[in-house]
Amino acid sequence: MSQVRRILWVHGTVQGVGFRPFVYRQAVALGLSGLVQNHPQGVRIEIEGAEAAVAELVRSLRQEGPPLAVIGRIEEVPTELQGSTGFCIAPSDSAGPCATHLPVDTAPCAECLRELFARSGRRAGYAFINCTRCGPRLSIVRALPYDRASTTMADFALCPDCLREYHDPADRRYHAEPSACRVCGPRLIWDGPPSSQSPLLACLSALRSGQIVAIKGVGGFQLACDASDGAAVQRLRERKRRAAKPFALLAPNLDVIAAQAELSEPERASLLSPRRPIVLLRRRADSTLAPQVAPALHEVGFMLPASPLHYLLATAFGRPLVMTSGNLSEEPIARDDREARCRLQSVADAFLTHDREIAFRLDDSVVRSEGGAEHVLRRARGYAPTPIPLRAPRPLLAVGADLKNTLCLADGESAVVSPHIGDLHDPKTRAAWRETLSSLTALLGVAPTAVACDLHPDYISTRLAESLGLPLVRVQHHHAHLAACLAESGLSEPVIGVVFDGAGHGEDGASWGGEVLIADRAHARRAAHLRYVPLPGGDAAAREPWRMALAYLLDLGETSERFCLWPGRQPAVELLALAIRRGVNSPLTSSVGRLFDAVAALTGLCRMGQFEGQAAMMLEAQSTDPCAAPYAYCITGRAPAEIDLRPGLRDLLRDLAAGRPVAEVGSRFHATLAAAVAEVVGLLSREHGLRTAVLTGGCFQNALLGARCQRLLEQRGLRVLRPVSFPPGDGGISLGQIAVAAARLTE
Ligand code: ZN
Ligand code: ZN
Ligand code: FE
Repeated sequence: MSQVRRILWVHGTVQGVGFRPFVYRQAVALGLSGLVQNHPQGVRIEIEGAEAAVAELVRSLRQEGPPLAVIGRIEEVPTELQGSTGFCIAPSDSAGPCATHLPVDTAPCAECLRELFARSGRRAGYAFINCTRCGPRLSIVRALPYDRASTTMADFALCPDCLREYHDPADRRYHAEPSACRVCGPRLIWDGPPSSQSPLLACLSALRSGQIVAIKGVGGFQLACDASDGAAVQRLRERKRRAAKPFALLAPNLDVIAAQAELSEPERASLLSPRRPIVLLRRRADSTLAPQVAPALHEVGFMLPASPLHYLLATAFGRPLVMTSGNLSEEPIARDDREARCRLQSVADAFLTHDREIAFRLDDSVVRSEGGAEHVLRRARGYAPTPIPLRAPRPLLAVGADLKNTLCLADGESAVVSPHIGDLHDPKTRAAWRETLSSLTALLGVAPTAVACDLHPDYISTRLAESLGLPLVRVQHHHAHLAACLAESGLSEPVIGVVFDGAGHGEDGASWGGEVLIADRAHARRAAHLRYVPLPGGDAAAREPWRMALAYLLDLGETSERFCLWPGRQPAVELLALAIRRGVNSPLTSSVGRLFDAVAALTGLCRMGQFEGQAAMMLEAQSTDPCAAPYAYCITGRAPAEIDLRPGLRDLLRDLAAGRPVAEVGSRFHATLAAAVAEVVGLLSREHGLRTAVLTGGCFQNALLGARCQRLLEQRGLRVLRPVSFPPGDGGISLGQIAVAAARLTE
């Protein structure tokens, strides 16, 4: 049989996932000789032997690779026979730019868990256990190629036992770069009231006595306390300056979660996925969680342990723990020990930290299951920065939105969205943005030659883009929302896009947010929008729903006296009414987010909010009837048409005055919006011959609205696309900006 020698270039997520050991075992089993090495382009294999065996190796790479590997392109280059014998894992070749995918951090695998909870063994109870199939990855990577020397594990020399496993092809830890044990690996450190116990036990006693502990997690510090202890949770709220936003929870297993929240099969699967996201679940009526965990909301966010340390803590504690990002209100999550001690000293009673550095800041990811599919709402640990295919004529950067910021890099073949960064209004978040940009460009080896940013000249993100001194492509906010969904679905043809969100700068200078666009990736035209009303006080309106209620009342020709918009503050209400009538600091808006605020305030659910979207979440929580009858509405004008909800809002006010329950009024309000969407999209579909509709924007985090719109559109025979792997909110904007820029620069 003929002998051949080939060089194989394997692209994709192939570093840090046990790929080289896999190749080694396959090659040895097939009697092939040669070598495998990490390379900036991916993994490089030189292979020599019988032609059929080489073909079998290539097939097995594609079909039997390790579970965490994502195999992209495989290039095969024939080369001269060398008569080599034996197969080895060769040192990495670090020349040239990096095009490989960065591996993501994953929860301990079943075998590591067995060792962790075993009665004896080198790694029993050891908080940093991992192997080639699990453990820290992006969070410890300083540079590529992915080798121990270029991770924060470089500071720990392997002990003889670990070294033996590392070099034994039959071992699960063969070339497991972060491999460690109690003798040679990272150690926990307790920084709190003096204790004679181990750091872990000291932390558990502090948590049991109602204290707040800052814990160094996978991608940053988290704040933990007993989720059943109302006083502890309340203290955490006050110290963290977070009045109402829900806290995430950690539980040791599905049984503990099932006692607190409803669990469907897809939700169990999301919780158990090695990515370990926070999964939003419907809270059970008999839940024993402190109400302060998620005030006035029907959902709670649970996760299972994402690391061995979390397993040890959660299992020993037994009950749910609050496990929220270690930061003050909108700041980025604290990453290194010094930063955490200084920023969190006023929040935490104690610190459980360790001596391994975190190289890359990662928040927890948040998902929700809808109609059996997992929808990503915040994309970070375990999900980012997995790339998606996206053609671009040159290397590009997109700076993202001001809120829920992410940034995005494109290398020509694929786009990589950074983990969630946060609110750019905070200077610390802007510093984190710059840090993310420089580490991602370095790790991916992408040097952007053009930058995509928002259309708004005064956005912080726009100014960050301008400061880079590269050619700019300015993209309208809602077009970016839509294009993100197109990029995710791999679609290029024109669609009808329904984009509902809080606010985005419109082409006419107004604050848009209730938009129906006819668009492809390169261009968008506004086909319809929600009727404009004043946005009294600009940005202040997003935190004070009573302002929008007043704007809508005046638009209906009502006076404010009949409605208690701000109890005891009627003079302030009258002053604002005057400002609205005179157009003082009251730009126009078509925002659906602000419409939700107005309705939530009119029902009395939420007149003053603590965070954007709170009023809408509270209204959704109350609106439980998915089959409610819509109120009236009308669609007027053309190109763009106007969606006028005034007839229905009058009925809604009459119902409220008549004492109809909020559950009924709220459900009918959701139904009205969905019916209006279906009618507008139906009209446009006939007029333009388009059969695909996209539903996106932050308002489509609202499961009731999303499901109802989708059902009505599908009943009309339309194909409906919604974001799945990327957030429908502003976390997806950077991907949309880069998709638009790539399409325009290609034209
Ligand atoms: Zn493992
Ligand atoms: Zn060791
Ligand atoms: Fe938006």
